[in-house]
Amino acid sequence: MSYVQDVFNQVIERNPHEPEFHQAVNEVLESLTPVLDRHPEYESAGILERLVEPERQIVFRVPWVDDTGKVQVNRGMRIQFNSALGPYKGGLRFHPSVYLGIIKFLGFEQIFKNSLTGLPIGGGKGGSDFDPKGKSDNEVMRFCQSFMNELYRHIGADVDVPAGDIGVGGREIGYLYGQYKKLTGRFEGVLTGKGLSYSGSLVRKEATGYGLVYFLDEMIKAQGKSLQGSTVVISGSGNVAIYAVEKVNQLGGKVVAMSDSTGYIYDRNGIDLDAIKLIKEIERGRIKDYLNRHPEAEYGEGSIWNIKCDIALPCATQNELNEEDAKTLIENGCFAVAEGANMPCTPEAAHLFISNNVMFGPGKAANAGGVATSALEMAQNSMRLPWTFEEVDNRLHGIMVNIYREASQAAEEYGFKNNLIVGANIAGFTKVAEAMMAQGIV
Ligand code: NDP
Repeated sequence: MSYVQDVFNQVIERNPHEPEFHQAVNEVLESLTPVLDRHPEYESAGILERLVEPERQIVFRVPWVDDTGKVQVNRGMRIQFNSALGPYKGGLRFHPSVYLGIIKFLGFEQIFKNSLTGLPIGGGKGGSDFDPKGKSDNEVMRFCQSFMNELYRHIGADVDVPAGDIGVGGREIGYLYGQYKKLTGRFEGVLTGKGLSYSGSLVRKEATGYGLVYFLDEMIKAQGKSLQGSTVVISGSGNVAIYAVEKVNQLGGKVVAMSDSTGYIYDRNGIDLDAIKLIKEIERGRIKDYLNRHPEAEYGEGSIWNIKCDIALPCATQNELNEEDAKTLIENGCFAVAEGANMPCTPEAAHLFISNNVMFGPGKAANAGGVATSALEMAQNSMRLPWTFEEVDNRLHGIMVNIYREASQAAEEYGFKNNLIVGANIAGFTKVAEAMMAQGIV
């Protein structure tokens, strides 16, 4: 049995009932055979066996009291996956679907994504099965405080620096930060995505969406295409989706559809982003509310990928775009797909895009702008000096262009020209493997 297969079998055996984690590991491992052939020393040093086993997994009880006085209990977790390149770095997700398998898949992806940014950050992820939807601000605050009552002892500006993800935005980061400061007495860069009034970074809010479109732009330019005049469909209507729309608009594309977990809206005139920001960032409403402001738009509850487009940007959640969706997109003439969410395309869908020459930007490369800007926030916190919007945005742009180049060069070097899945996996892996080799068996 091959080394890769052997390690993958161990992952399944040791982590049963965690299909998302298996999927993420398999996607990386199946790219690495040519690298392992060139570097037999990685097998001797057990690099893969160590890479797939988190350095530390912390699981804890999060008790809190709801507005009716009832005690609620959620489960909190933080996976500190790999610190070869720097302090653990990765978001917190609050969503009822969260369990260890989801956090492990995200933490594993994060190792390679963070490596691709070229910045000194290791990989981690955390979260809870808490659902912020429908909760009052006070309930969210009490939950965040209780979550931090345990998490604070495991994190720190040089140890582990969490950020946001699904269900964790500026409000949640604020409450988490306040409680960390209360417990430790330290004002330090222990979380990123902080508000600008308490040492957050400009562009962090926009970073994942902007970065996604910078990456997309570089990828399609290499094939002689342009965003100018392109029709774009973007799933989700959260942080990543909203700022992806903003950047697509700035670069001359037209976004005609967006969604949330209940349905999608289709506006052939182009989505009114101010209306979406109001509904989602302020009113915390449903995407269907868009019709109140734009009755000429259409609302549907089927697959958003049935809408004809040139470019598709899945920005909601894992496995939201399957093989059928991929077939439809290809039939409708879609020429590029870039993943704003983590693992939104099923493996079958991703392979179909690659084999049909649809340009495909995998999440760990295309959505790395968020964590890259988080690392820029850490740098500013360490210096105690803020950068301007332009300074951070220019750095973000440079990082995304560089990630595209590294992934496409690695793909070409190993004989998989234009396959950015393989390229991103190899480029991300190589740096981590080298650092692990240098640091001995730890
Ligand atoms: P948000 O919570 O801000 O938004 C998530 C969006 O996705 C919402 O519109 C939500 O709809 C929708 N969604 C969530 N779950 C489902 C589901 N099961 N089916 C359909 N739609 C769903 O999260 P983010 O925008 O921050 O994150 C989106 C994706 O991007 C995630 O995969 C995340 O891991 C990834 N990502 C985020 C980064 C960041 O900086 N925030 C960085 C890199 C990747 P509803 O409101 O109805 O739940």
